[in-house]
Amino acid sequence: MDFIAKEIEDYALNHTKPESELLKKLNRETHAKIMMPRMLSGHLQGRLLSVFSNMIKPDYILEIGTYTGYSALCLAEGLSEKGKIITIDINEEIEKFVRNFFEQSAYKNKIDYRIGNALYIIPTIDQQLDMVFIDADKENYSAYYNLVFDKVKKGGYIIADNVLWSGKVLMDDSKLDKDTKAIKAFNDKIQQDDRVENILLPVRDGLMICRKK
Ligand code: SAH
Ligand code: CA
Repeated sequence: MDFIAKEIEDYALNHTKPESELLKKLNRETHAKIMMPRMLSGHLQGRLLSVFSNMIKPDYILEIGTYTGYSALCLAEGLSEKGKIITIDINEEIEKFVRNFFEQSAYKNKIDYRIGNALYIIPTIDQQLDMVFIDADKENYSAYYNLVFDKVKKGGYIIADNVLWSGKVLMDDSKLDKDTKAIKAFNDKIQQDDRVENILLPVRDGLMICRKK
């Protein structure tokens, strides 16, 4: 489901700064060589993540779900001078492809790419986080939120992607698959959580933005 008209999306893209050459190449090669290229954030959302990161100027970002590294490279653009991004993915099959792109980036020394199950890696992270981007398996969104919450600084942000799940969140629970159920439960949980200010932004597939009070 596309939430906005193609013409409007094109107009928005034509009035949004283009992707860097490296991001363009990563976007292209992901589509040519890697399975499920639709998972890549893409031009518009990538620029939005970059703007958020530049507004926050984080010292520490945690990303859950690297895929080919597109969103990690966008988020890295706003890091403070000493800032670092830890990005986790369970899929070791594309590790070489991803590392090769990180190596070509100006942010290569700021990116800590870890392969493994985020459920087990997150508890080993000691840093206090300014920004978290949740974008891995949808079933575990609430678990990731719970695992990171105490590590996020007061005033820090937790952003979750795909929270509209192609519009399937509007369907009745009785007909739903486990991913859609999990996303609906996550959105409801955030809406009821008084520890955060939240806004569901209907950009692309939906971004839930939470600021920890
Ligand atoms: N953030 C990327 C897209 C991520 S796609 C972008 O915007 O470009 C989702 C990723 O989550 C996939 O690469 C998948 O391998 C990863 N993933 C799924 N389950 C995971 C888990 N338990 N731990 C870590 N990563 C996981
Ligand atoms: Ca996503």
